[in-house]
Amino acid sequence: MPAAHVVVIGGGLAGLAASIPLAEHGLRVSLLEKHPRLGGRATSYLLSSGEYIDNCQHVTLRCCTNLEDFYRRLGVSDKIKYYDRLVFADSKGQRGAIQASWLPAPFHLAPSFAGFPLLDWKDKRAIIRAMFRIVRTRGQPRLSREMTMLDWLKQNRQTQNTIHRFWRVVLVSALNEELDRTDAAYGIAVFWKAFLSNRDGFGMGIPAVPLEALYASAANVLQRGNGHVRTRCGAAGLEISTGDVAGIRLDNGSVLNGDYYIAAIPSHRLLQILPSHLRDRDEFAKIRMLNVSPITSVHLWFDEPVMPEPFLTSMDQTIQWIFNKTALCCPSAAGQYLQVVISASHALTRQSQQDIISMCRKELVDLIPASREAKLQRAVVIRENAATFAPEPGCDRWRPNERTSLRNLFLAGDWIQTGWPATMESAVRSGYRAAETILALEGKAVRLVRPELPASGLVRWLNVSNWLAVAKK
Ligand SMILES: Cc1cc2nc3c(=O)[nH]c(=O)nc-3n(C[C@H](O)[C@H](O)[C@H](O)COP(=O)(O)OP(=O)(O)OC[C@H]3O[C@@H](n4cnc5c(N)ncnc54)[C@H](O)[C@@H]3O)c2cc1C
Repeated sequence: MPAAHVVVIGGGLAGLAASIPLAEHGLRVSLLEKHPRLGGRATSYLLSSGEYIDNCQHVTLRCCTNLEDFYRRLGVSDKIKYYDRLVFADSKGQRGAIQASWLPAPFHLAPSFAGFPLLDWKDKRAIIRAMFRIVRTRGQPRLSREMTMLDWLKQNRQTQNTIHRFWRVVLVSALNEELDRTDAAYGIAVFWKAFLSNRDGFGMGIPAVPLEALYASAANVLQRGNGHVRTRCGAAGLEISTGDVAGIRLDNGSVLNGDYYIAAIPSHRLLQILPSHLRDRDEFAKIRMLNVSPITSVHLWFDEPVMPEPFLTSMDQTIQWIFNKTALCCPSAAGQYLQVVISASHALTRQSQQDIISMCRKELVDLIPASREAKLQRAVVIRENAATFAPEPGCDRWRPNERTSLRNLFLAGDWIQTGWPATMESAVRSGYRAAETILALEGKAVRLVRPELPASGLVRWLNVSNWLAVAKK
């Protein structure tokens, strides 16, 4: 019997994560991507100078277990460099670092946090109190359904200073939204998974090559199984017959038939390719409720090195992360290439490129005084206005499952129900889940989704909440 044919629409991480294991398990896979390159929103642009720059620095954390597994399948694990020391800075040019000690989780970061010079003891006490609450509830405190992260922080008596110089700094970049528009459950989960439950979770992985090079091998990996990639091949519409998908109409007018279909495309694109009578079905109509949030990246080339660290986090400025791309990707290059990232950059969407560059230049001088004398040779601003879905309170109810009411249509993408915010980890999880479901229908019981990092033994013991209640008194 010929192998079942799966047509995957979208060559982002979700589509790739679904396609590769399906092809490895002998199913015939056709992956359609409308752009010339794979990687989707994790992509690079080719400048007229012939060099590739990423649309934005994409980072992972060690708690992203499925993304790590996906990089292994792609054969690019060695291109991700992990850092276990996070350096924070402020506009007075001060620095403070967070790194793990020999202590087990949740206390592994405690010594560096105790000595962290950019927060005072009143702030630290407030933060520790909130962290205990997160640990005691294993990252899932009881919340009213529409609670924002800001509400939760106020309820847990966080000072203005901790909100602005600590919680906001970590969460806006992790979740791409402001605290007053973020579901508290998402914010709390970030601290639980990355900083509290396991001592490795916070380690930050940064690609040492442009994103374009990271995903270029995907087509070959697929071909080693039973799959092939068609780039510059857009899906224009789904053809439905007797409640099933009968085929995909392509941009060139032809129709491609398969046994199963995975739509691994952003939510608004899915609505475009659905026939009109399906768009109003509850399961699809609700996804219109998901809003999006922007990320801006600013690429700056200086004539001389200005920043020794591989990356910095700013605690009190518009600019949030600064990546030293010269150190990360090409240490022998002359001068220095910095990439500034501003998440939830709503306020910048109407500003001119020149104003954004001037703002970055000025803030960098405060953060890195050595950059004052350096000459800015060129700069590029990249705005991604629909970078991710906005993790607004209650947004989970608009995120559909991988299964649809059409027997042979499955969904994947960072925006479907994965238990994770809009990240590469979420995209890969969704792809693995869609592949698992199809493999099961083909009689192959395969577990692709990797479990979260386990909570440390001490965290589990501390979970006996009475102990903490006594300790608090
Ligand atoms: C600026 C920016 C910075 C980010 N930083 C991080 C980060 O540091 N860490 C992190 O974890 N995440 C980050 N993200 C989020 C991350 O990029 C996404 O969560 C992830 O890449 C989404 O993957 P996906 O496959 O679900 O969707 P996409 O990447 O959007 O892939 C969908 C693919 O489908 C294709 N497509 C669409 N319509 C059609 C069609 N009709 N026919 C054929 N193909 C079609 C698209 O071209 C695209 O390639 C960032 C995102 C942006 C934009």
